[in-house]
Amino acid sequence: MRPRLSLPALAAAMIATGTVALPIQASATTEPSSQTASPGVYRMTLGAFTIIALSDGSFDLPTDQLLIEPRPGEVKELLDRAGLPAAVPTAINAFLIDTGTKRILVDAGSGALLGPSLGKLLDNLRAAGYRPEQIDELLLTHLHPDHVGGLADGGRMTFPNAVIRVDRSEAGFWLDKANRSRVDDSVKGSFDAALTSLQPYIAAGRLKQFEPGEKLEPGIMAVAMPGHTAGHTVYRIESRGQTMMMWGDIVHVAAVQFPDPRITIHFDSVTGEAEAARETAFGDATRKGYWVAASHIAFPGIGHVGSDGTGYMWKPADRNAR
Ligand SMILES: [Zn+2]
Repeated sequence: MRPRLSLPALAAAMIATGTVALPIQASATTEPSSQTASPGVYRMTLGAFTIIALSDGSFDLPTDQLLIEPRPGEVKELLDRAGLPAAVPTAINAFLIDTGTKRILVDAGSGALLGPSLGKLLDNLRAAGYRPEQIDELLLTHLHPDHVGGLADGGRMTFPNAVIRVDRSEAGFWLDKANRSRVDDSVKGSFDAALTSLQPYIAAGRLKQFEPGEKLEPGIMAVAMPGHTAGHTVYRIESRGQTMMMWGDIVHVAAVQFPDPRITIHFDSVTGEAEAARETAFGDATRKGYWVAASHIAFPGIGHVGSDGTGYMWKPADRNAR
């Protein structure tokens, strides 16, 4: 099946074609947190590890154009129930794992690719007390522009000492020029963004590909959950009996996809697989009760999943508890 549009490619296409006036607009930033001076930084402990959520910013996602609903009208009903408009304010989050010996960043935000309401990851990394040179490893959940755009700036490595790790199928798909020539024009931009962002690391011999299920560091394992993209990966983080799953793009619009995980989004490469991955992830998180960290759930994107009888619910971390 052909890959669908990526978020920025679609946004750009819609602006270019006049499909919508302005699908991505700056939305209100997250509310201030009392546990840190910076509203784009959230810190918690996981066993011996420190986990730091870093905001890359927020954009308005036009659900009426991007979500695919099993029953007509369902998305609007669920949004109404949550008090949300059709253009849903949507976070982009990345997560830093400080193991005590290594600093590992999961995803890199959008950099300069998606406009001024985004690309705030570096500012928030510095606000958390880290410099980009201190990042030892970057684990990518997948190679869409909102996850890789922050890797490079003007052809130079933003994280000059980091090794970049990505699933072998994911790298194989996006870095293969033959695939680029086969997709719709609107998707080509995502191929260009992935290559441009990774190129300086490839040139430096710092792009390392892994197999599904591989242990990448003590306490950190790659779990393949394809569907959103060919090699979409969730990272399992474990320290001293505490577990967190870093979900990447298992969910895009929490207010509708927790109540009904069958609701999909046009960015998915293979819709049915993405839906199945979401059902699996929600069920597993509910049964086992571990922490979840998600790229597009309201900052900090950290919480737990529960069942509410007919569907699932997101239980955000208490931002004032720590
Ligand atoms: Zn994403």
